[in-house]
Amino acid sequence: MTARRRWLSAAALGVVVAAGAPMALAAAGDSDGYSPQGVSSGDRTAQVRNAIQGGKARNVILFIGDGTGDSEITIARNYAKGAAGRLNLDKLPLTGAYTTYSVAKGDPSKPDYVPDSAATGTAWATGSKTYNGAISVDAYGKPLPTILELAKRNGYRTGDVTTTEVQDATPAVLGSHVVNRDCKGPQSMSTCPSNAKENGGAGSIAEQLVQTRPDVLLGGGKKYFDQTVQGGEFKGQTALDQAAKSGYQIVTDGQGLAKAEKGQPLLGLFASGNMDLQWTGPAAKTGGTEPSTCKPNAALPASQPKLADMTRKAIDLLDSRKRGDKGFFLQVESGSIDKQNHAANPCGQIGETINFDDAVAVGMEYARKNPDTLVVVTADHGHTSQIIPGDVTSPGQTATLVTKDGEPMTINYATNTPGQSQEHTGTQVRIAGYGPQAANVVGVTDQTDLFRTIGRALTLR
Ligand SMILES: [Zn+2]
Repeated sequence: MTARRRWLSAAALGVVVAAGAPMALAAAGDSDGYSPQGVSSGDRTAQVRNAIQGGKARNVILFIGDGTGDSEITIARNYAKGAAGRLNLDKLPLTGAYTTYSVAKGDPSKPDYVPDSAATGTAWATGSKTYNGAISVDAYGKPLPTILELAKRNGYRTGDVTTTEVQDATPAVLGSHVVNRDCKGPQSMSTCPSNAKENGGAGSIAEQLVQTRPDVLLGGGKKYFDQTVQGGEFKGQTALDQAAKSGYQIVTDGQGLAKAEKGQPLLGLFASGNMDLQWTGPAAKTGGTEPSTCKPNAALPASQPKLADMTRKAIDLLDSRKRGDKGFFLQVESGSIDKQNHAANPCGQIGETINFDDAVAVGMEYARKNPDTLVVVTADHGHTSQIIPGDVTSPGQTATLVTKDGEPMTINYATNTPGQSQEHTGTQVRIAGYGPQAANVVGVTDQTDLFRTIGRALTLR
């Protein structure tokens, strides 16, 4: 029997012995302080005290659920685990909330109470508030250094993973600087002429991501890499050619991803646009739906990796304990939680939340084995979906889903006229942490504080 086997047997025995005594099990607890009897079943003082660690982190893994506020988390939990169940992202020991507002373009003294993913991503990527649509530029359009760029400069390996286009706002803020989030490829620069290569700028988001050169860049958005570069060294070639000539190994499916090896940076482009949804089900509609359940998306290509697969591979490639090597900074985003919230598609939204939660489990498993890792799980901004009583007539669109509990749950989308794209909201959102410096998420902070928490954990200069 190996040492690890012995340890597992002892742990299993502990559970058996404690099974008749919930309080004892809660006190023994998981390493993350979670007990299946409910987090309030015992005195958690010692667990919380043990979870507080200052000092330095070797690695940071930042998980972003786009548009994933408390309501989106609760909807996914109720549906997939039941009301008394817990998601993986519920199990982080230290939790707070942060404010997410953006500011007016050209006047950072004026708050804009409903932010977008560009301004909110820029907040944790650079530590500065900016206007909606800005990709790591300040309220006046001036580029600001990002947490990923600083981590690279300080010798850390870096990764940027998403289920949307890699040029979408949340992944883009880590490694590009443009005045408008729509400037995703070299032939999509009409709203950012000053950033265009042909005008002496740093180029589109796709070009700049390659120039920033994270060690791992995974998601969708191949169509922007197929566009032709309009100026500079790679003029006339595609942005994908630029990536290959800059040393990237390029993969386009799960098999390629599995085979990718260390030693060369990795660009994985698994869809032309956003990656496909995990689940399908009835769209919310005016007057509601019959009680239904979600189904796996039959159109999901088997070759497309899940977010958990991409997260595991990114960690494998970034993790190195070679003498003299520093750790890594990795951001992992589930982006279509937001997009399906806009579309009033509850099963799409929940499936992407579970896709996210499965990825969080991969990060937490790594962090438990490597306790010098800071894990942060948060959102960029609030969104539309709300759980409402099933017997009211909402002016918005509703759908009723039968949950794990076997009970109906009615979800309402009413931040815009039915049929229109539903809107973000200005609420504070949850932020949870595990590992060194995680105590800095507790209480009510601002999104820009996350930049400083990560910088402090990695002692970035
Ligand atoms: Zn959105």
